[in-house]
Amino acid sequence: MSDNFDVVIIGAGVFGSGIAFELSRRGMSTCNVDMNAAPGYGSTSSSGAILRFNYSTAAGIELAWEGNKYWENFEEYLETTDERGLARKITTGHVFFRTDEALYQLYIDKLTETGLPFEEWDAETVTEKMSFLTLDSFGEPCTLDDDRFWAAPDGTIPGALYMPDAGYISDPQLAAHNLHTAAIAKGAEFRFNKTVSEILTSPDGSAAIGVKLADGDEIHAPVVVNVGGPFSAGINDMAGLAGKDAIESRPMRHEVHVAPAPEGVDFETVGALINDQEQGFYCRPEAGNQIFIGSTDPECDGEDWVDDMDTLNREITEPRWNLQMMRLAKRLPDFGVPHQRKGLAEAYDVSSDWGPIYDRTDLDGFFAARGTSGNQFKNACVASHMMAELITAVGNGHDHDATPLVVPGRWTGLNLDMGNFSRNRSVNPDSTGTVLG
Ligand SMILES: Cc1cc2nc3c(=O)[nH]c(=O)nc-3n(C[C@H](O)[C@H](O)[C@H](O)COP(=O)(O)OP(=O)(O)OC[C@H]3O[C@@H](n4cnc5c(N)ncnc54)[C@H](O)[C@@H]3O)c2cc1C
Repeated sequence: MSDNFDVVIIGAGVFGSGIAFELSRRGMSTCNVDMNAAPGYGSTSSSGAILRFNYSTAAGIELAWEGNKYWENFEEYLETTDERGLARKITTGHVFFRTDEALYQLYIDKLTETGLPFEEWDAETVTEKMSFLTLDSFGEPCTLDDDRFWAAPDGTIPGALYMPDAGYISDPQLAAHNLHTAAIAKGAEFRFNKTVSEILTSPDGSAAIGVKLADGDEIHAPVVVNVGGPFSAGINDMAGLAGKDAIESRPMRHEVHVAPAPEGVDFETVGALINDQEQGFYCRPEAGNQIFIGSTDPECDGEDWVDDMDTLNREITEPRWNLQMMRLAKRLPDFGVPHQRKGLAEAYDVSSDWGPIYDRTDLDGFFAARGTSGNQFKNACVASHMMAELITAVGNGHDHDATPLVVPGRWTGLNLDMGNFSRNRSVNPDSTGTVLG
């Protein structure tokens, strides 16, 4: 069987569904192909879905600020309803402990440069606002088998950076479903339980012309978009692009955990997104007065690269659970480590500098939104808009590599220079080398 569309999109996660919506609302015929059974069933469903604004570049901050506005205006943006209801933003604020002075100052400088709202809290203010926390300082993050983990505190954390507009999206998988529903309302087509096994190219190999599926069917289109999440590096390889980009990406396994809030603490009301670089974790409220806990990738924890996504262990492990629970317990003195382990494991598609790639590729007609590095759920809608603008501009003859496209933000009017998200940019020298970007 062979079909023809304007664009075929590999993946129907939050990015694939978002790009389908943005392209179909521009009148293009699109077909998403996903090997899962429904939208958002890939890494999107494991997302912490945190919306925060502290990035190491002004471009990263402005993208997140514009991205946030999509979620705040989600219903208006979608122009449709979803029988399952809409994902919604829950604003919690973000408390970022002042532990690494250089990083703290970098964020203050970048937030000041971009004009985003923030407050500097001294230790007294943190304690007044979040009395369930201790600001005891324990030095660098370390693992449980390190004697330093069990040492007494040797000081007090002097305060925190507070960003009032941060929060999270109630249900990331539902968000993808909402975008998929909105795309269908504009005429988009989705094919689930179908695997792309080959990128079809023109006889001279210079341009993408569609995809071949594992069942032998072909879908033809002059534009193919790779939004395969942690599979995206493999999809680029399939298109003959291995080693072509200056910025590469590779899947890395991560665990996130969920635990009940300490007895007597209404964390859903008084809690916030809390980032503790000293202990190497972040956490946020989770429905049911629980705490969602992730890792900020401290060096001592090592890196869990995934060479074959088919062998990814999606079960959480006892050592990682114990480590994260004990780290949380050092910050929340009344926290009782639960007996029952709860959480999940997935892979991030980590780029060379933990920033995303939203770009065309060296294969004409082949585009990719990848390298989202565990921190780009928040930008799925704005990035989908940028990708749709890019596909349109390149289709009209624009040389994006020579003159990177600048896309005005739909909500903020900020000029978003896509050169900052190029596959051929220089590695960001200020990158934290972690999920913080
Ligand atoms: C544990 C975890 C926590 C995170 N926390 C946050 C957070 O707090 N804040 C934040 O902003 N971001 C966060 N992220 C990042 C964010 O969730 C991802 O950037 C985003 O969900 C990626 O969406 P996607 O659509 O690109 O990928 P996915 O959702 O993975 O979708 C890709 C789809 O492509 C399909 N696919 C792949 N290969 C093929 C093929 N050959 N044929 C057919 N289909 C294929 C897959 O089935 C999948 O459905 C987190 C990620 C993880 C894993």
